[in-house]
Amino acid sequence: MAEGDSIRRLAARLNSSVAGRDVIAARFRRGGEVPPRFDGDTLLTVAAVGKHLLMRFTSGRSVHSHLRMQGAWRIHRAGWRPGPAADRVGAWFDFGPPGVLAAHAMPVLQVLPTAREDLAVGHLGPDILTDDWPAAAPAVAAIPARRIREALLDQRNVAGIGNLWTVEGLFIAGVWPHAPAADVDVPKVLDVIARMMRLGLRHGTQSTTGNLRKGQTHWVYGRYRRPCRRCSAPIDFTAAGPGPYDRETWWCPHCQPGIG
Ligand SMILES: [Zn+2]
Repeated sequence: MAEGDSIRRLAARLNSSVAGRDVIAARFRRGGEVPPRFDGDTLLTVAAVGKHLLMRFTSGRSVHSHLRMQGAWRIHRAGWRPGPAADRVGAWFDFGPPGVLAAHAMPVLQVLPTAREDLAVGHLGPDILTDDWPAAAPAVAAIPARRIREALLDQRNVAGIGNLWTVEGLFIAGVWPHAPAADVDVPKVLDVIARMMRLGLRHGTQSTTGNLRKGQTHWVYGRYRRPCRRCSAPIDFTAAGPGPYDRETWWCPHCQPGIG
């Protein structure tokens, strides 16, 4: 899942494969407007900010993307061009021998001046994977009073945490996902999630149990009605609601008891 850790891994992969390379040919397809030209430009570096990816070019422009659930940056062999069914390729950059970097089904893809990246990421809270975490952690008072799971997913509070790490982190911390944030030890929960995400980043996995076998990778995520791995109680579930941070949630009613 494209959470902060996977975007960091993607940025690292692109930095080692195509950063520092010149663009031999490129197409930036966005309906209607005049497409920006990147031929002859050089990709300086690729940065991850929360769940956002920023590709910075020597021309002073940045390509901002957000993968959400379906987007992907893929490197194809040198000379690759999108076929006739490629309306889902939003942009491609041919770097010669390392290959062609292409944005597939990218829901957010835009070009901005590098000096104005704040237009894309300025609203974000501190990145949970930043080097100066936990010093950068937001003051709990700054986190609005609502359900803890929604507060964790709101990227304006903390950037980089997605639903997988929220669901699993709340289980490890023993916190009921529907609890009001004001009733929760938020620094402890953030500490648990930051540790889990760093471990995942280091080991290149989103397994939270340490087990890599299929069906064994998570404590509660996706495990409705299955027995809790700690106490055997059946895992509970709430479907996603209408709010932008009201995502589907799983929890153990015994290990994560409700308040009251
Ligand atoms: Zn349990």
